[in-house]
Amino acid sequence: MTQTSVRENLLRIQERIAQAANRAGRGAEEITLIGVSKTQPASAIREAYEAGVRHFGENRVQEWEGKRVDDFAIAQRLDRARAEEGITGKLRVLIEVRVAPEETKSGVEIDELPKLAESFGDLPRLELGGLMCIPPFLEKAEQVRPHFKRLRELRDELEKKLGLGLSVLSMGMSHDFEVAIEEGATEVRVGTALFGIRDIK
Ligand SMILES: *Cc1c(COP(=O)(O)O)cnc(C)c1O
Repeated sequence: MTQTSVRENLLRIQERIAQAANRAGRGAEEITLIGVSKTQPASAIREAYEAGVRHFGENRVQEWEGKRVDDFAIAQRLDRARAEEGITGKLRVLIEVRVAPEETKSGVEIDELPKLAESFGDLPRLELGGLMCIPPFLEKAEQVRPHFKRLRELRDELEKKLGLGLSVLSMGMSHDFEVAIEEGATEVRVGTALFGIRDIK
């Protein structure tokens, strides 16, 4: 893709984010755009950066574990790795929730979410920032709405139960981010709509 097209895509996405936020009575500045750059060449990432994208997401399989936290052993390993590297600051992590057990494989079961969230109290180098989900891909974005709504409700319940602020709701991808914003997303993770179709090798 050429620089102009990443830039144009970004402008269009920002416009759609602003409109969706507006429909929900929210401000566009409440929503962080994560450019999902997996499989993209460094040049495309540079183009996006130059156009103004400041947050990038990767999830190559070899890096996967560090970025998706859905069980305590992974969280513990991350915490320990930071200790070994002498890093004292807290790493913000999100718990991935399996919002549609019949259709998706990854994420913690809803029943097990409170226990996992509570266990972060034992990990001094991690900070639980909120929840994320990857709902099933459904043809119409509108069909995904109940899953986004569910994640928001789970977040609200968890905040009450734990007496913690969990400000991040990371939900919504290229084809459904507007619905996610209407349901409260604070982070949308957009790949294809920004960079174009991924070259799957
Ligand atoms: C690939 C990916 C995205 C982006 O998907 P698009 O449909 O290309 O926007 C978002 N989140 C995660 C976890 C992904 O793996």
